[in-house]
Amino acid sequence: MPEKYDVVVVGSVNADLVVGVDRRPDPGETVLGSDLATHPGGKGANQAVAAARLGGRVGIVGRVGDDGHGALLRDALAGAGVDLAHLAVTPGPSGVALITVGPDGDNSIIVSPGANARLTPDDVAAARDMIAAASVVTFQLEVPMPAIEAAARAAASAGARVVLNLSPTAPVPAGVLALCDPLVVNEHEAAYLLGGTAGPEETAGALLRSGPRSAVITLGADGVVVADAEGTTAIASPKVDAVDTTGAGDAFTAALCLRLARGDSLRDAARYATRVGAAAVRRPGAQTSYPTPDDLPA
Ligand code: ATP
Repeated sequence: MPEKYDVVVVGSVNADLVVGVDRRPDPGETVLGSDLATHPGGKGANQAVAAARLGGRVGIVGRVGDDGHGALLRDALAGAGVDLAHLAVTPGPSGVALITVGPDGDNSIIVSPGANARLTPDDVAAARDMIAAASVVTFQLEVPMPAIEAAARAAASAGARVVLNLSPTAPVPAGVLALCDPLVVNEHEAAYLLGGTAGPEETAGALLRSGPRSAVITLGADGVVVADAEGTTAIASPKVDAVDTTGAGDAFTAALCLRLARGDSLRDAARYATRVGAAAVRRPGAQTSYPTPDDLPA
């Protein structure tokens, strides 16, 4: 195990099972689809791979099943250079996302959490040395909240910066929110937290007042808005030809965490991360689209 990590991700690891369809079946109906494609995914694994591909020293705390998907998922993480010392193997199935892609490229997704649902505060306690050796510890909400809560508290008490990506949306205990620096949300997640239809800058201010130390709202091609004690700042994203936006948010959050770990200000880290998010939409897929530093747009 390295002495120090830029980023430790506590999060989900899923196999994405993707089938193209002309239309989705009605209840009781069967339709034929395309060949099955199986890709490594899960928000936690995506963020770990994205940060590692950018040159970060990265560890992951999570669970996969003892099935074939688990082996594939471990290989993908290991291939990117992520430390797997605390990626435990649970008897039973790995997490999977069952994805149908319609003729217009529209996705419908069912996530079966599998082993991810078995991540516990005891797993976090077993990984305390890794967490204590991290500059930034980051979470998404595809693993159980008690594990996230334990990890956020362990990270904060060890002096690591806590970054939470509120995806998918779920209630977050006020004590966890108060540790987030920043809380990262997209526009839909911000609306879940706050309701209303305010513009992004007012929304970012309102998000900050809801409890985190700082907040970042991602706006797709329009970039991001950052809010902290210094005020609210809009940052544009580089203009690129978008091919597939899957996993752009994970690429953005991973890059943000890495640059914060390396000492950037929140605004500088967000500027860099918009370049990484933009690079990720230029290629298909999630992990397959993640750039190295040489692939970034100006
Ligand atoms: P997803 O759920 O698709 O992973 P998300 O909704 O969490 O994404 P977005 O706000 O869509 O997150 O994208 C994250 C960041 O990626 C944006 O802030 C931006 O920097 C970059 N990005 C996304 N889409 C584009 C695009 N079409 N052109 C340029 N940059 C983009």
